Amino acid sequence: MRRSRSRNIQPLLREVTLSKNDLVAPLFVDENLTAPRPIESMPGQFRYPVTDIAAVVAELWNKGIRAVLIFGIPRTKDAEACSAYAPGGVVQQAVRSIKTHVPRMVVITDVCACEYTDHGHCGIIGKTRGGMDLLNDPSLELMDRIAISHALSGADIVAPSCMLDGVVGSIRAALDAEGLEEVLIMAYSTKFASALYGPFREAADSGFSFGDRTTYQVHPGNSREAILESQLDADEGADILMVKPAGFYLDILAQIGTIGLPVAAYQVSGEYAMIKAAALNGWLKERETVIESLTSIKRAGADLIITYFAADVAGWLDENE
Ligand SMILES: [Zn+2]
Repeated sequence: MRRSRSRNIQPLLREVTLSKNDLVAPLFVDENLTAPRPIESMPGQFRYPVTDIAAVVAELWNKGIRAVLIFGIPRTKDAEACSAYAPGGVVQQAVRSIKTHVPRMVVITDVCACEYTDHGHCGIIGKTRGGMDLLNDPSLELMDRIAISHALSGADIVAPSCMLDGVVGSIRAALDAEGLEEVLIMAYSTKFASALYGPFREAADSGFSFGDRTTYQVHPGNSREAILESQLDADEGADILMVKPAGFYLDILAQIGTIGLPVAAYQVSGEYAMIKAAALNGWLKERETVIESLTSIKRAGADLIITYFAADVAGWLDENE
């Protein structure tokens, strides 16, 4: 085997190499801010005011990043998430601004209600047999409205993250009825109830006032259920499937790749925070660890990787050329 690993031969035989086209940069836009605010649990990441977002995205474009995923933090929250689908809402403003200044950047928007509800759950809540919980069907129409408003603002891809049953089919029908057939759906099709989302809740201000999300996300121990979740979204018309988090779930990622649709993997806030914290302590080399983590995610079958390291990686790939 060592014949093939000599310094000159090895690069020719490499099976998986990262490229900038694999990367999606997640960004937080906060309607309450007038200047960028650091996210403490995610060193190097910021919440940006709407007025800054086009410049931030232009910088990513210049580094070679070709897709961003937008999360919004609104000024007002209520039980019905009204600010999530307002034409003048934070995501809607941000998307219009990005599309005006960096029109070729692919803009993906997170479609959910948890940043916009005062209770912090991903849709409409009400009484169920198990107590107060997220109601499935009453929340679907809300997701349709959010998706349509994002698409009308210029989003290329809408990404429902709520794990409601039937949400992909519902949004597909709603978009088509509005003449928005060209807009893709990237489903958060297999989303685990993970402890790794902790830092994100600070980033997106989406903690909840009661309960948790274990009644709508997949338990980390369930593999068949995880595959079925993505298969159902494929059947409902998803264009891209997703596994979230990424690094702890490479087996699931590899299996979902066999469904046949493109697959995205979301390297989540906790995965970012773990590498950052170890690197800041001098316990791991950041660059090598990040590249290895992303290469592993790609090797497992991801066509797209959503990662907070996107801008850094783009710079490192340039240095390697
Ligand atoms: Zn949510």
